[in-house]
Amino acid sequence: MSRSTPPDGMRDFGMVIDGTTVDAHSGDTFTVTYPYTGEPWARVPHGTSADVSDAVAAAHRRFTSESWQSMTPTERGELLFELADVIEDHIEELARLETFANGKLFRAMRSQMEALPDWYRYYGGLADKISGKTLPVDMPNMFNYTLREPYGVVGAITAWNSPLMLATYKIAPAIAAGNTVVLKPSEITPVSAIRFAELALEAGWPSGALNVVTGFGEAGAALTDHESVRKVAFTGGLETGRQVGKSAGETISPVTLELGGKSPNIVFPDAEIENAITGVIKGIFAATGQTCIAGSRLYLHESIHDAFLERLTRRTEALQLGDPFSDSTHIAPIACQQQFEKVEEYVDIARSEGARLVTGGEPREDLSGELFYPPTVFADVTDDMRIAREEVFGPVLSVLSFESESAVLERANDSRYGLAAGVWTSDLRLAHRMADRLEAGVVWVNTYRQSSYTTPFGGHKQSGVGVEKGIEAIDEYLQTKSVWIETEGEVGDPFTLV
Ligand code: NAD
Repeated sequence: MSRSTPPDGMRDFGMVIDGTTVDAHSGDTFTVTYPYTGEPWARVPHGTSADVSDAVAAAHRRFTSESWQSMTPTERGELLFELADVIEDHIEELARLETFANGKLFRAMRSQMEALPDWYRYYGGLADKISGKTLPVDMPNMFNYTLREPYGVVGAITAWNSPLMLATYKIAPAIAAGNTVVLKPSEITPVSAIRFAELALEAGWPSGALNVVTGFGEAGAALTDHESVRKVAFTGGLETGRQVGKSAGETISPVTLELGGKSPNIVFPDAEIENAITGVIKGIFAATGQTCIAGSRLYLHESIHDAFLERLTRRTEALQLGDPFSDSTHIAPIACQQQFEKVEEYVDIARSEGARLVTGGEPREDLSGELFYPPTVFADVTDDMRIAREEVFGPVLSVLSFESESAVLERANDSRYGLAAGVWTSDLRLAHRMADRLEAGVVWVNTYRQSSYTTPFGGHKQSGVGVEKGIEAIDEYLQTKSVWIETEGEVGDPFTLV
C-alpha cells in the first residue's frame, strides 16, 4: 500500500483578519510539516504583535458595530446553525488538514470534524436562552434586574492535539454569547483554523467576527497582553498557562485555562478485566498518548496486578504503528520533533529512576519518518518518581500497585494536576465514593475518555480554571450588569449609603 502524502506540494495560506486573507506585516512565513513523512506542505504567515493588533482591532470594530450590537439572539444563533451546515460539507477536507499537521489518525480527526456541527447547533440553540434575573430588593421604590452581556473581544489560544475541536470549545459559546473572537492556533496546526475562518465567512459570519492569526508563542502573548482583549480562553501546557494567567492578571481579564494532567486510572479487583484493559489502552495510547486527559498513572490492585499487567502488555504489543490514513493503524507518529524528544527524555528518566520497562521504550526507526514511538509501559513505578508526577504527553504508561481504597485515593489525589480520573469496579457504592472523593474535573467509571458538548469539562487544581462544554461554558463568555430603576421619584438622602 502506498504511503499517504500531503496534497500537491507546498501550498500558501494567509491569515484571516477582518474578513480578508492577509500576510504577516513582516512578510515572514513558517512551514507546516506532515509528521508521518516529514514533508513540509504548507506555508503560513508568521504573525506577530502587529498582526495581532490588526486582528483585535477588527474584532473590536465588529463587536461595537451597529449591525453586531443590534443582532438579535435568534439571529446570532442562526450564524452558528449556518456554520454547522457549511462544516458538514467540509468534514473530509478539514480532517485531512488536521492529520497532515499533527499526524493523528485520520479516522480520529474525521470523527472530531463530524462532531463539530453538533457543537455549533448546541450553542446556536443556547444563544436565545441567555437571560438575566429580576431581583427582589428591600426598597419599594426600586426595581433591579441583571443583564448578561458579552465581554467584547475574546482571545482564544489553542494546542495542536485536537485543533478545531479545542477552538470550537471557545468559538461556539463565545459567539453565541455575542462576543467576537481572535484565534491564535498552535504553530503546529495553523491551517485548519485558517480554513475554518474562511468557512465561517462562507456561512455568512460578518468580517471581524472570527479572525485567525497564525504564529508562535509571541503572537499568543501579544493577544493575552492586549488591552482590548476582554476575555482570554487558553488550552495548552501548565507553564504556558501560568504566563497566560499572569498576563490576564495585568489586563484584569477573566481567563479560562485548560491545562495538562497526570490522570489516575484505578482498577479494583472486581472490575470487568477485559473492559478495564480496553479502557486503559484507550486512556493512554489513543492519540499516541497526546491527550490532556491521558490516563497515564495506572493503579492496579495488588491482587490482580501481575495478571492484568501481563494481559495489558500482550494487547499493547499487538497495537499497530503506521500510516495515519490506514484504518488498521492504532498508533500514529508523534506530532513533532520537540514532543518526540520529550517522550524520549521521560523514558530515560523513568529508567534512571528505577522503573521497570515492560514493553516499548525504544523509538521505531524502521517505520516511515522518524517520529514513531511505540506504546511504552513501565511497572514498579512509585509515587515520587517524575514519571508518576509529570505530564509526558506521549504513549508512556506508569503502572503502580495499591492495597486499599483509602490508600489509592490518597495517592491518586497526591498530584498538582486534577483533570481526569478513571475507576474500574463492579461495586456501585465504591464507584460513587471514588467519584465523590477523587480530585478531578471529570471522573469516568467503567469507561474512559468520554465527552459530549452537553457536559462541562474543566480541570481542578493546576489543570485549569473555568469550564468548557455544556451550558456552563456560556457563562465563561458573559459578564453581569446590575440595573437599578427608581419608580416613585424619591432619590433620598444623598449622604446615606442606600
Ligand atoms: P503549549 O502551552 O506549548 O502551547 C499552547 C498554545 O499557546 C500554542 O498556540 C502556543 O503558540 C501558545 N503560546 C506559547 N507561549 C505562549 C505565551 N507566552 N502566551 C500565550 N500563548 C502562548 O501547549 P501545546 O504543546 O500546544 O499543547 C500541549 C499541552 O496542552 C499539554 O500540556 C496538554 O495537556 C494541554 N492540553 C490541555 C487540554 C485541556 O482541555 N485541558 C486539551 C488539549 C491539550
